[in-house]
Order: sequence, then C-alpha cells, then structure tokens
Amino acid sequence: MDEADSYTGRFAPSPTGPLHFGSLLAAVASYLEARTRGGRWLVRIEDIDPPRQQRGADRLIIDALQRYGFEWDGEVSYQSQSSKLHEAARDRLIDAGLAYPCTCSRKMLADAPRGPLGSVYPGTCRNGSSGAEAAIRLRTNAEAVEFADRLQGPHRQCLEPESGDFIVYRRDGLVAYHLAVVVDDHKHGVTDIVRGMDLMDSTPRQIWLQRCLGYATPGYAHIPVVVHPDGSKLSKLTGAPPIPTVEVRPTLTAALAALKQDPPGALAEASLDGIWTWAMENWNLAALAGLETVADPS
Ligand code: GLU
Ligand code: ZN
Repeated sequence: MDEADSYTGRFAPSPTGPLHFGSLLAAVASYLEARTRGGRWLVRIEDIDPPRQQRGADRLIIDALQRYGFEWDGEVSYQSQSSKLHEAARDRLIDAGLAYPCTCSRKMLADAPRGPLGSVYPGTCRNGSSGAEAAIRLRTNAEAVEFADRLQGPHRQCLEPESGDFIVYRRDGLVAYHLAVVVDDHKHGVTDIVRGMDLMDSTPRQIWLQRCLGYATPGYAHIPVVVHPDGSKLSKLTGAPPIPTVEVRPTLTAALAALKQDPPGALAEASLDGIWTWAMENWNLAALAGLETVADPS
C-alpha cells in the first residue's frame, strides 16, 4: 500500500493529570482500530496549556500506557515542540485575511449572545481593532460544516451563528487547542481520529480550520464518554481516579467490556499479551455505533 493511503491513528492526551478510565477507552479504541487496520498509532502529549497542566503528568501517562502494553510507533511527541508550525499556520491565516486580531476583553464579551457551544463572538473586531494585547480569531461563515462520523452518523454545525469567529491564538500568546490539534495531526499524517464524544462539538471548528489551511480532513469516530451513575461525565473535575498501573489486566478487560467488545469472563485471568491478542482478533469498532455514553464500571 502507498504510504500516503495507509491508516495513521493517534492518542493525544493533555498532561493535566494521570490517565482515568475515560481516557483509557480513547487509547484502547484508537489503538485497536489502527492496529487492526494495519496502521500506525502515535502518542502525542498535548502540552500547550501550562496553567492547566500538572507537573510530571506526561511521565505518568506514558508509564501507564507502557504498563498496559500499548506499543506506539516512533517516539512520543510533545505538542509544544510544534510551536514554530503553530505560529506559521497562524501567520498564514492572518496573511490570507482568514484570521484577525481581537482586542475584546472578557468584560466586553460578557453580554455576547449564547449559543449551543457557549458565548457567540459578535464580530466586534472583524473590521479592525486597536490595542496591543490581541487574541487571533478565525473568520467563520453561515454555511454548515458537515461531516459523517463513523459511529455517530451525520453531524453539522453552522459556525457563524453557533460559535462565531473563534480563537486560534490566545491573548496570552498561547496557541488554542483547535489550531494546535489540526496542525499537529496534519504534521503527523493522521488519517483517522478516534476520540471521546466530548470532542464531537469541536470537530466542525477543526474541519473548518483544516479547510482554511488547505489540509485534508481525517476520518472521525467519536466513542462514548464514561459517565457516573448520575449521568455526569467522568473527569478529573468529578473526581475520576487514576487507572491502576500495578495490576492492569482487570482494568484493561473492563475497558474492552465498556467498549462493547463482550470479552469472556475468564479473559481478566489471561496474560496481558493474551488479552491484547484476544482484543485484536475480536475488535469491532462498530459495536459502539450510536452510543454517546457508557456507565463507569467501578
Ligand atoms: N488533548 C485533548 C484531550 O485530552 C484531546 C485531543 C484530541 O483527541 O483531539 O482532551
Ligand atoms: Zn474583538
């Protein structure tokens, strides 16, 4: 197969803390999908937001992935290593008139209309702004951005009314998540993204950015997020514990069960290699079709 056609997947955790069960599901699903399609699987630490990061979390994440038996291609990459590329993409968008500086303060935007994704930028600085401290916003329009998610089906968003022109570089000089993720996935030749449903609403903005930058759009499959019995999403904020890294087999087996792969009860007793062999032989991403949430098994 031509290198350019081959599948490249990735797992892209933010180092805001150790891995929890929800992030393990994204790792397992993206890994099994890549491997069973004969593809490559990359690990990228998304360390672009120092204020939200936890020192040493990158090592904890990489160590956990190793203990669970994941094998990635090449070295783990760090998003902060791409800052030159992020800046070049920003400058290209500005030079093409697709992005512009915005000097609106939080206070000025406090009365902005609310949309399904939060406040909708009213376009105040579209035709020019003054002041030194500026964020950079990407222009949007009223046409719908549509894509067909492999698990969740067709999805569309009209960015101008639903999000407004959105930030690609923050006022504090840090690159925004949407731009960084799009530039880095392009840099690494990622063809297919398997990640949690919590990022579904970000996808149209990322596809819009890919179009503005002339990049191909990868395939998307958004897997269910893990929820507590009360329906709230499992996250560090809701006290999701780190996954165990000593005896990993029961948790890996529970991850396969949460991913609706129906592992046999005895699998947790198998060796780690044995669990992965079973998982590769039986992997079926489509078992998650249409599922938006799964219950926390613990
Ligand atoms: N770094 C993001 C997160 O941990 C995920 C980015 C992605 O998968 O596109 O939520
Ligand atoms: Zn503005």
